[in-house]
Amino acid sequence: MKIIRVKNQQEGGVVSFKMIKENIENKKADTLGLATGSTPETLYQEMVKSDLDFSHMTSINLDEYVGLAATDPQSYHYFMEKHLFEEKPFKESFLPDGLAKDGKAECERYDEIINTHPVDIQILGIGENGHIGFNEPGSSFEGTTSVVDLTESTIEANSRNFDNIEDVPTKAYSMGIRSIMQAKKIILLAYGPKKAQAILDTIEGPVTEDVPASVLQNHSDVTIIVDEEASRLLSK
Ligand code: PGA
Repeated sequence: MKIIRVKNQQEGGVVSFKMIKENIENKKADTLGLATGSTPETLYQEMVKSDLDFSHMTSINLDEYVGLAATDPQSYHYFMEKHLFEEKPFKESFLPDGLAKDGKAECERYDEIINTHPVDIQILGIGENGHIGFNEPGSSFEGTTSVVDLTESTIEANSRNFDNIEDVPTKAYSMGIRSIMQAKKIILLAYGPKKAQAILDTIEGPVTEDVPASVLQNHSDVTIIVDEEASRLLSK
């Protein structure tokens, strides 16, 4: 694992964008795996500000809330439109359909998309409990796309974007850990003191399904970009 320490989220956006840009310019990245949440926002700001064109590229997002339409301002689809796609459209962009009638069929459809569009660079945030995507602690490292029950701590953390905690969906579609690990290159971003324990466990702890992100120790090309607060518990 390569660890890059940055001053703050702003600098993390700049550094991660530079890595992605180099790979695109060297024709090493056609398909990006994208994430939502507050963490990747500064990366998307850099992408939007840049003169790069993504209209020949494909994007595949990690997850979506079950029950929310793409047009719902709380949906991840809407988040992606507002933070990136409206300014920088891709040739094709995939997210799970929060309104799909048949959850199992939707998971199969999404796995098919992932399998036919291998991800070159996967962007990840990390939950306070070490989740990646919505793969909560205890998720199988062999998992593919599934409907997951969100943990109390994830619902609580995500409630900041909703009027009431009761409005936070309790289920989500999430790409599985096996699919995430198939990306050629992975960039995980983490900022702020609430991520410090998860970052310590991910980098220095045992590889265990109790800390989903610890699986990244088994991947050959992972870069973790952390600010001072998120890296403060690391021993080196
Ligand atoms: P955040 O979420 O970027 O809003 O902190 C990250 C995550 O839960 O994966």
